[in-house]
Amino acid sequence: MTNCTDDCHPPSARRHACPRNGKSYPVVSTTTLLHHLEQPWQWNLAERHYYFCSDPDCPVIYFGDDDSVIEQTGVRTPVGLKDPSDTALLCYCFGVTRADARDSTIKAFVQQQTRQGVCACQTRNPAGRCCLGDFPDSKEGIVDCR
Ligand SMILES: [Zn+2]
Repeated sequence: MTNCTDDCHPPSARRHACPRNGKSYPVVSTTTLLHHLEQPWQWNLAERHYYFCSDPDCPVIYFGDDDSVIEQTGVRTPVGLKDPSDTALLCYCFGVTRADARDSTIKAFVQQQTRQGVCACQTRNPAGRCCLGDFPDSKEGIVDCR
């Protein structure tokens, strides 16, 4: 059995196209998947890579190398990125909703915490990466808390 750990590929290096919208997205770590999948023991996470589709209009949350897809029903955490409401969570580490994220004071708070390395994006955010890129007015990929 191939045991692919996070060390076998640098974060974001491995990409795959979402079978629903055709766009390419970075791989998600096994650690992230274990914290968010429904019944994670049913998945053979060591044999397949999974990727996170960050398109707000696409129902797919995770998809595999084999083009299998996992939507919200297969994920324990409500994915705020896919929910346009103001009460949807964008920052899972500090409980920041979409409405909160428009407040520059709250955004500054999150930036300060991430700079100090006290965020837990890899486990708390279903995307496995820093939430700041999902805040309004942020350009994806510009902000990285690690
Ligand atoms: Zn998609």
